[in-house]
Amino acid sequence: KVKIQNLKKSFSNHVVLRGVDLDVAEGEVVVVIGASGSGKTTLLRCINLLEIPDAGSILVDGEPMGREEKGRFRPLGDRKLQEMRAQIGMVFQRFNLFPHKTALENVTLGPIISRGMSKAEAEKLGSLLLERVGLAEKRNAYPSHLSGGQQQRVAIARSLAMQPRLMLFDEPTSALDPELVGEVLETMRQLATEGMTMIVVTHEMAFAREVADRVVYVDQGQILEEGPPDEIFRAPKHERTQNFLRRTL
Ligand code: ATP
Repeated sequence: KVKIQNLKKSFSNHVVLRGVDLDVAEGEVVVVIGASGSGKTTLLRCINLLEIPDAGSILVDGEPMGREEKGRFRPLGDRKLQEMRAQIGMVFQRFNLFPHKTALENVTLGPIISRGMSKAEAEKLGSLLLERVGLAEKRNAYPSHLSGGQQQRVAIARSLAMQPRLMLFDEPTSALDPELVGEVLETMRQLATEGMTMIVVTHEMAFAREVADRVVYVDQGQILEEGPPDEIFRAPKHERTQNFLRRTL
């Protein structure tokens, strides 16, 4: 489903990713954990080329996001890249909804504009998705009238409206008030249960424990250790993983 090989990324002379290999199977939920600055966000952003890697390869359903040429990563051309990106949903820490559009309009915009869906069809899909994230009754509300947790659930519905094959979550709950975290995690848990392929960067260790099929510990731009949550949390092999978990749990 997703195959990442030898992914490298530096910002000027600061090496952030030092050759990351990561395979994610269809329907698998991979939770990425690691200290601040270890490169988790950069890894996620490189997958859909929001950040252009320096080198390496990224395959989504066997299709490359670009190719290596003389050791440098070259992204796909604009058109093909857009096509590939449309299949990868991304949810950020900040929800970035359009403030002057209702919840439903935020969800239907993508399918109407980039999928050429009719308004009626998009609204039908949008209503279903808002229902799925528990916000059917908020379809006509503007973002400013929604709580952070509700806004984030609209953002998730908006991503799903593009019918992605893969969802990337970048600390989706870290900007939320603590009492709103649960509802967003619950929506993600449900999505996982429905078989969505997900890569989730989060500091929510309870979520990782319960929902992840695999936990990946990133340390200084490399995957130091990975395995089923039970293994990683109960018996981490590396001292650095042990220390990180001791500090966070
Ligand atoms: P956190 O948990 O704090 O979000 P992270 O593991 O997600 O951290 P990244 O956001 O990937 O870490 O950042 C890794 C390093 O790369 C950091 O030192 C950061 O300052 C640097 N970095 C990230 N983006 C840029 C950029 N656009 N320009 C320069 N440096 C960057």
